[in-house]
Amino acid sequence: MHQCQICDTNQEEGIFIYHLYICESCQAKIVATDPEDPDYRFFVHKLRRIQQSPLNS
Ligand SMILES: [Zn+2]
Repeated sequence: MHQCQICDTNQEEGIFIYHLYICESCQAKIVATDPEDPDYRFFVHKLRRIQQSPLNS
């Protein structure tokens, strides 16, 4: 079990993008969300954590 970094719940099924864990349902939501949808900005904001974190820490 890992904690999804989007919905902040523990999920068994998911993937790591670098060190960021995203559950299957959030992956599906991101893929299905239109870029003009307000939810899309929320996902992008969360995903920016990848770029802001030091890679060699
Ligand atoms: Zn999730």
